[in-house]
Amino acid sequence: MIVQPKIRGFICTTAHPEGCAAHVKEQIAYAKSQPPLVNAPKKVLVIGSSTGYGLSSRIVPAFSGGAATMGVFFEKPGAEGKTGSTGWYNSVAFEEAARAEGLYARSFNGDAFSKEIKAEVIEAISADLGQVDFVVYSLASPRRTDPDTGETYKSCLKPIGQSYTAKNLNTDKKVVEPVTLEPASLEDIVHTVKVMGGEDWELWLNALAEAGVLAPGARTVAYSYIGPSLTWPIYRDGTIGRAKSHLEDSAARLNEKFGAGSAYVSVNKAVVTQASSAIPVVPLYISLLFKDMKQRGLHEGCIEQIQRLFQDHFCSTEGPQVDEGGRIRIDDWEMRKEVQSAVGQVWDRVTTENLDELGDFAGYQAEFLKLFGFGLTGVDYSLDTEPVRDMPSMA
Ligand code: NAD
Repeated sequence: MIVQPKIRGFICTTAHPEGCAAHVKEQIAYAKSQPPLVNAPKKVLVIGSSTGYGLSSRIVPAFSGGAATMGVFFEKPGAEGKTGSTGWYNSVAFEEAARAEGLYARSFNGDAFSKEIKAEVIEAISADLGQVDFVVYSLASPRRTDPDTGETYKSCLKPIGQSYTAKNLNTDKKVVEPVTLEPASLEDIVHTVKVMGGEDWELWLNALAEAGVLAPGARTVAYSYIGPSLTWPIYRDGTIGRAKSHLEDSAARLNEKFGAGSAYVSVNKAVVTQASSAIPVVPLYISLLFKDMKQRGLHEGCIEQIQRLFQDHFCSTEGPQVDEGGRIRIDDWEMRKEVQSAVGQVWDRVTTENLDELGDFAGYQAEFLKLFGFGLTGVDYSLDTEPVRDMPSMA
C-alpha cells in the first residue's frame, strides 16, 4: 500500500515502515559517530523503548556502548491494508540493526503497568541475560490500570488552583490563539500522579530485585521536565508537575532501598515527541525554542540528549552530576539564561502572522512528521510498502 500521513489534531494515524526505519538508522548513525562509551552498562532494560526518549535510550547504550537491550512498549503491529504504529516499526528497525551487529535485542509488546508483562520480562532476563545492570523508565501514557485493584486511572494536563489562559499554537491550522484551561479537580491530580508518577517505576525495580534479576550496583533513571516559568502553570505547577514530583520522591525511595546513587531523575529538554505534541502551550514554546537554539548551534533532539546523558553522566568517571534537588540536568542548554531571555521576548510578540519569522514552525512540523516516518531523505513515498513487519525477537 501507499502510505501517506493522516493527521488528526496532534496525532498522525499512519506510520511509514521504511520511513520509521530511516529515522531509527539516523539515530543509530549519530550514536555510532560519537566516541564509544566507556564503563557503559552492558545489559539494559528500557521501559517505554519504542519512541521518543525511550527509543534513544535503547539506541545509545546499544550502539555507542555495545549493550544487550530489552525493550518494553505498547504498540500496534501493522495488518493487511493497515499500518501499524510508529513505535512498532521503530522497534523492528532497531532489532534488525542490533542483530546485524551481533547485539542481543528482545522486545515485549504489552501493558508495562501489568503484572503479566513484568513477569514475562523477568523470566526473559533470567533465561537470556541473568541480570540487568541498567533500567531506563521512559513511559508516557494517558492511562494506567492499577495491577492490584483493577481500577483504571486517566492522566490529564491541567493547571491547579485556577484556570490558565495562554498563547497556544494550533498545529493543524498554524494559528496562534489563546487557550483557556480549566483547573484540575482533586481527582484529576490523584489520577495523573497514579499514571505518570513513580509508583510503577518502583514496582518494576522491586519486582526485578525480588526476582534476583537486578545486578548488584545496577542503576536506574526516569525522565522529567521543568522548563521555563511561562510553561509552569500547565507543566511544573499543573497535574503533570505533581506526577513528576512524585517521580522524584520515588527516586529517593529507590535510593534508600537500593543504595545512594542507584536511582536518578534526569530532567530532559523539550523535544517533539508524541507525548509533548499533546501538551497545550508546549508546541508553540518548542517552535520558538528551536529557532533560538538552532541559531546558537545548541539544537538537540532525543538522541543528542541521551548521548550526553550517558557520556557525561552515567559513563563519566565522576558519575552523574546533579543539581540541588539531586536531579541530572541535561536541560542545561535549554535553560541557559540567554536562551530563555530570547525566547521570553519573542513569546510576548509571537502571533499567527509573524510565527515563521520569530519561530521555527517548519522545523517543528518536520520533526513531527519524522516521528511517524515521513519526510526522511532516501525514502520514496510513492512506492508501495508492506505494512506487516515481523518483530525479529517475536518471530
Ligand atoms: P513518547 O510518547 O515518545 O514515548 C512513550 C513510550 O511509552 C512509548 O515507547 C510507548 O510505547 C510507551 N508506553 C506508553 N504506554 C505504555 C504502556 N501502558 N505499556 C508499555 N509501554 C507504554 O514519550 P516521550 O516524550 O519520549 O516521554 C518519555 C518520558 O520523557 C516521559 O516521562 C516524559 O515526561 C519525559 N520527557 C519528555 C520530554 C519531551 O519534550 N518530550 C521532555 C522531558 C521529559
